[in-house]
Amino acid sequence: METVNFSAKPSLIKRINKNIVLNIIRNQGPISRAKLSKVTKISRPTMSNIISLLEKDKLIKKSGIGDSAKVGGKKPVLYKFNKGFGFVIGSQIRVNEVITILTNYNAEIISKIILKIGEKRSLNQVIDLLFNSFTYVIKESNTNIGKIKGIGIGLNGIVDYKNGILKFISHFPEWGRDIEFVKIIKDKYKIKTFIDNNCRMLASAEKIFSLGINYNNIVVIDTEEGIGSGVIIKGDIYRGTEFLAGEIGHTIIYPEGPKCACGKKGCAEVLISTDALIKDVLSELKKNSNSYLHNIYKGKIDKIKLKDIFSAYVENDPLVEKVMSKIEYWFALLISNTILNYDPGIIIIQGDYTAATKKFIDNIKQKLKNFVLPGINIKTEIELSNLGKYAGPIGSASLVLSQFFDFSNVWKDK
Ligand SMILES: [Zn+2]
Repeated sequence: METVNFSAKPSLIKRINKNIVLNIIRNQGPISRAKLSKVTKISRPTMSNIISLLEKDKLIKKSGIGDSAKVGGKKPVLYKFNKGFGFVIGSQIRVNEVITILTNYNAEIISKIILKIGEKRSLNQVIDLLFNSFTYVIKESNTNIGKIKGIGIGLNGIVDYKNGILKFISHFPEWGRDIEFVKIIKDKYKIKTFIDNNCRMLASAEKIFSLGINYNNIVVIDTEEGIGSGVIIKGDIYRGTEFLAGEIGHTIIYPEGPKCACGKKGCAEVLISTDALIKDVLSELKKNSNSYLHNIYKGKIDKIKLKDIFSAYVENDPLVEKVMSKIEYWFALLISNTILNYDPGIIIIQGDYTAATKKFIDNIKQKLKNFVLPGINIKTEIELSNLGKYAGPIGSASLVLSQFFDFSNVWKDK
């Protein structure tokens, strides 16, 4: 297994080796030193060093005695990952809610909470809500702040991940620009904190824990009030020069189309976001009685819920199908552009549109045939995410965990 970059500085090599060994113990433990040396091709003395460092850091612990390789031989000590070593917090700040989870080092959720943002939308008010969510998940987990080893937060905006700065967030214009977000968190908690765009957190979650595991080139499209994507190229998150990579919501796909919140006309977001879907269904319902949604809402059609629209779609309601057919078309156009930009092995649809089920994907695939290059058989898989409501926070937690573990050996080339 050739995983060490020998041009790196010795300290970096040590850290990489430590990550590799920790990751193998985490996935394959309980495991002996001899077996670890064999699997990693790291020499026995170096392995002993790494093991004592990991033990000292309480990242691994002894887990009994294994069988000896030969009869009468010395029985080896086995090591396993200490998953109770510490916890991480993963959060997602969405347009209308804050979602926070606390996980162990295997990214298993121990406690979780969703808080509605409501009318109190200033930076301080949302930060207070975020801190309340931290307090709640820590208390619910019967742990204390000292056991939290890292915090990850996903935001719907342009994020300078390296410097921990939220450059701009369109759904909270009153926050202004260039907010030192990480500093605000660290000033209070003194804990290692990472922020990134929500879509990149989602991509990270898919890559490490779900549908993206077997792929190196992945695009995750998040579909809610906003539309965005997270791009992974050769196993790494691709952010671009100005952290704009994946901002497909504001790519123009219909220049004569309606005005977008960003000021331009015909952005993908203004055509296919869930707000656009609700608006289009409402306007059809007002001029057309051919839908069972009229029976459900009985004159209160303005209160229509997204989940009922998707149920109607799955139930083949003709009015909703008509609106969705247009949305499928825009999705197909957007996805064909994404394929030609990145040629990913898989495109994963995240967020509210997952409720539209496989029917939605099948229809998009059908419409995609109009857009792909002639003579080229597009092999990109298109799938609906199965990570559910907590995908964002799981991604935020996984970004923190990836600072401790090397996840690279779970990716196969594809
Ligand atoms: Zn726009």
